[in-house]
Amino acid sequence: MIKTEKLKIRCLSHPSFDSSVFDNFLLEENIEWHKSSTSTDSEALIEASGRICYMAFGEGKQSGKSNSEYIWNLIEMGHESVLEHINWSFLITGVSRAFTHQLVRHRVGFAYSQLSQQYHDESEATFVVPPSVEKCAKSFAKWKESISSSISIYKELIKTIESDESLDSMVKKERLREIRSASRSILPNATETKIMVTVNARALRHFFKMRGELDGDWEMRAVSCELYRQVISDAPAAFQDFELEQLKDKSFKLLHYRK
Ligand SMILES: Cc1cc2nc3c(=O)[nH]c(=O)nc-3n(C[C@H](O)[C@H](O)[C@H](O)COP(=O)(O)OP(=O)(O)OC[C@H]3O[C@@H](n4cnc5c(N)ncnc54)[C@H](O)[C@@H]3O)c2cc1C
Repeated sequence: MIKTEKLKIRCLSHPSFDSSVFDNFLLEENIEWHKSSTSTDSEALIEASGRICYMAFGEGKQSGKSNSEYIWNLIEMGHESVLEHINWSFLITGVSRAFTHQLVRHRVGFAYSQLSQQYHDESEATFVVPPSVEKCAKSFAKWKESISSSISIYKELIKTIESDESLDSMVKKERLREIRSASRSILPNATETKIMVTVNARALRHFFKMRGELDGDWEMRAVSCELYRQVISDAPAAFQDFELEQLKDKSFKLLHYRK
């Protein structure tokens, strides 16, 4: 019996801003910040960071832009390092190893911790089925047959390599690593994995632009859209040039448009 798994993204940490500490700083500097009343903590932290660059607080120093306009101006000017001050941590499960192999190519502004196939036994692994396979009974049956064969060979390899006496000279931990490393070579791209991802708003914007609209990459689109749904209420101004669009098959893509 092949167990399949669906995408789930849990946001474990949201950006926060201790505005009382910042208010004390402003008091010490004897300056006032004319702050938008509607900005979120994340948006206020971005604006405060940007204003620090020029100490642009108060009468004569602030242009009267709203927080959203201020952040859009940073983005338009390419002063996007200011967006790096807000971060989220996500636990992403129900994704394939094929997907995470592409995800971890995003090196800048991302931190990753992923389930190891060397330390974790994959005999009970679950699998991620692409919608275009799942909707066709014939393809799905073939797919399950192939997955089933891979997982039973994986288990066989574990047993066979375990009995290899030439590995006895290894310390226990390395012996296990050798057994699982060799056996996992048979596991398919569809094997489900779990990955902790911490990312800042600038890196997320770059990821959304590169990955959110790819019609032919359903998993990238699904993850991009779900990440967008989870960050948009924290920092609408930082993602104001993105929009979700529903496709004919009911899935979504994340459009990037220039305002
Ligand atoms: C449609 C598509 C198809 C792809 N196909 C393939 C493929 O066939 N094979 C493959 O290997 N990859 C492929 N990739 C992956 C792609 O090449 C990138 O590795 C991946 O998208 C991460 O993008 P990035 O390097 O911009 O991100 P990050 O690593 O997060 O970098 C962010 C930005 O920082 C700057 N930067 C980062 N590192 C450097 C550096 N060393 N020097 C200078 N500037 C740097 C760049 O401006 C970069 O855009 C594909 C990506 C897409 C979207």
